[in-house]
Amino acid sequence: MEIAEQVKAILAYGETCDHCLGRFFGKRSHGLSNDERGRGLRIAIAIAENQPYEKFSSTCWVCGNFFDTVPLWADRVVEAVKELEFSTLLVGCRVPPLIAENEEMVWSDLSLAEPEPFKSEVNREVGKAVSARIGKPVDFKKPDVVIILDPSTGTTEVQVNSVFFYGRYQKFERGIPQTHWDCRACRGAGCEKCNFTGAQYLDSVEELIGRPVIAMFDAENAVLHGAGREDIDARMVGTGRPFILEVVAPKRRSVDLEKLENEINRTAAGRVSVALKRWSDRAEVETLKSNKAHKKYRILVEVDGELTADEFAKALKTLQGVTIQQRTPERVAHRRADKIRERKVLDIEYAGEQDGKFVVEVLGEAGLYIKELVSGDSGRTRPSLAEILNKAAHVTSLDVTQVEGAKEGE
Ligand SMILES: [Zn+2]
Ligand SMILES: [Zn+2]
Repeated sequence: MEIAEQVKAILAYGETCDHCLGRFFGKRSHGLSNDERGRGLRIAIAIAENQPYEKFSSTCWVCGNFFDTVPLWADRVVEAVKELEFSTLLVGCRVPPLIAENEEMVWSDLSLAEPEPFKSEVNREVGKAVSARIGKPVDFKKPDVVIILDPSTGTTEVQVNSVFFYGRYQKFERGIPQTHWDCRACRGAGCEKCNFTGAQYLDSVEELIGRPVIAMFDAENAVLHGAGREDIDARMVGTGRPFILEVVAPKRRSVDLEKLENEINRTAAGRVSVALKRWSDRAEVETLKSNKAHKKYRILVEVDGELTADEFAKALKTLQGVTIQQRTPERVAHRRADKIRERKVLDIEYAGEQDGKFVVEVLGEAGLYIKELVSGDSGRTRPSLAEILNKAAHVTSLDVTQVEGAKEGE
């Protein structure tokens, strides 16, 4: 069917607004908004048939003139997020079933190949209007807040996405579990046995870290994702255990990690201490927690030429959190397919000197080739420590000190 015929067939269903008319052809002619596209089609047909052009001024049978209310919805969204600190947003929509049914009927009746759904136009147009009002961009992938519109009830629902940061904790006192345990007797409801706290242990590493976090982010909760866990009776000292803290539904996001670290260490009063490294995200939690996800190594590194420990430590720091491109190492190339893969250095830390060599603790994503991370493997691994130092460097000894899931003592 020609487009002109399709347009006439659509208009035969009932009065159709420019937005909905244009949206039935929404994936044609980029650079037009749906209402511009719809008005254009209406004009083209009027000219082709030498009929007077009439601007749409009725009630749309598809959407009930929803798009007249975009400014009103933008106001509602602005009101709903006014107490929140955020940088990016996304608008979503619960499509009223009748509207979905209306447009889907036309799509299938006329076998339309390139329609855009009502939902996408609403999300985009309201998102744009909100963005223009408050000067914050829409982010489709990782928005700080998502606001869901419900046209059936005229209400909005705000979802505040979690904030994540990465660090290491030490635990100096025995008898503190890593995460909160409900009381065994009452399962968290509160009973005499637990002094009506609902908790089996009064404090956990999660709570000792989480309490000041919840206060500073004005958040609902804080969840600790650890790279493995130690026994409740074991201390966790040395370089500490890597963790990611998830801050749930924070009203504030721009917290200074250094201040936060100080506040956690002050309030945990020597029972637990943390070193906070950087911001993180949900994807990294999966990596950190998945069983084969990572290994921790203790390596000795030899560097050709003069280099101070400070310079060395500084160079290491630039690899922290970095995704490394590794072509299959020369030493295994004869038995592995030659390909480039990406693996992350989750954590890397200078741990002193030994026998004139530098000691390094590395936590790498599964499959990270550690020797090549140091040597650069003749440019097959990038970036590498050798590349950053601009000096030859290689690993002279390598110990795996932690495999995910294994229990660690002290
Ligand atoms: Zn409409
Ligand atoms: Zn209890």
